[in-house]
Amino acid sequence: MAVLVTGAAGFIGMHVAEALLRRGEEVVGLDNLNDYYDVSLKDDRLSLLRNHPGFSFVRADLGEEGALEAGLAGRVIDRVVHLAAQAGVRYSIQNPRSYAASNLTGHLEVLEYCRHTAGLKHLVYASSSSVYGGNKKVPFSEDDRVDAPVSLYAATKKADELMSHTYAHLYGLPQTGLRFFTVYGPWGRPDMAYFSFTKNIMEGKPIRVFNHGKMRRDFTYIDDIVAGVLAALDNPPEAGAESPPHRVFNLGNNKPVALMDFITTLEGLIGKKSEWIYEPMQDGDVVETYADIERAKAALGYAPVTNIEEGLSRFVSWYTDYSSRE
Ligand code: NAD
Repeated sequence: MAVLVTGAAGFIGMHVAEALLRRGEEVVGLDNLNDYYDVSLKDDRLSLLRNHPGFSFVRADLGEEGALEAGLAGRVIDRVVHLAAQAGVRYSIQNPRSYAASNLTGHLEVLEYCRHTAGLKHLVYASSSSVYGGNKKVPFSEDDRVDAPVSLYAATKKADELMSHTYAHLYGLPQTGLRFFTVYGPWGRPDMAYFSFTKNIMEGKPIRVFNHGKMRRDFTYIDDIVAGVLAALDNPPEAGAESPPHRVFNLGNNKPVALMDFITTLEGLIGKKSEWIYEPMQDGDVVETYADIERAKAALGYAPVTNIEEGLSRFVSWYTDYSSRE
């Protein structure tokens, strides 16, 4: 029995796959290796996973109808962690169609695969804090209304939750949706601010500070997210008398950090000051994210332990090694 991890060449997918392999699971990783960001970083992540004998890889595009079934023919999968998606809020303003293909069709293809796979025990999938849109009440709780997404990316993630609910209702497919809050750490995504800020500070280049720095993010360290994903995977929901087997949890840190404090912490760790270029708020962005994590604590024992200084210091040390490799 193997766990399918979609998006295994991605940031979170690589870490989740590695944690599963470390505890002795067979893992089938799937990814289309698209060039949204540097493909060599995805190749390097996959090389790490390939060191484990329990890992195998399938290259397939979830946006193509039937590609998932064809790629997995003959494999026995009993759990799925679906992390493949076109990520990024700002990119969705310029490139809406890639979000429909990967996040809407792709999610549906995973649901169809799961419903037709005998013995499929649980589908865990990535949602996002972005579904909370510009909600003013913090911290964001799973019971809050989420019907006003401010980017197409957020709209596709909310649509994924709705499709999942329908498949749980119609077919009894056990599922857990995880709303991740700004995940950071080694092997991270070059399109995210912590990555580009680190690069620019080290290279002596200016950094662009949106909304004049008046933003707060609930930065969540990758190891805490991985622990939450595994805890979710191991605790499938049961169908209640009136409710389908589908749950949604926030996975955040519950300690939002002001952007300017974040930048000064990063500068302190790198030992260099940077030039800041203040820019207005970007379309699709929100001022604050802040997770209420009580539900995940109670149901999954989720308990993030990494503070921003520790997490950023581990990222900076990984980045220093990685960017100076031959
Ligand atoms: P990532 O871009 O590093 O990983 C996603 C992977 O999916 C990539 O390797 C990409 O090649 C692959 N992929 C994209 N479209 C595909 C398709 N059509 N078919 C097959 N593979 C495809 O992103 P990540 O940060 O690791 O995010 C993982 C998941 O978590 C995503 O669903 C993302 O939306 C969600 N998420 C991430 C964050 C965060 O802060 N990193 C926050 C909220 C939600």
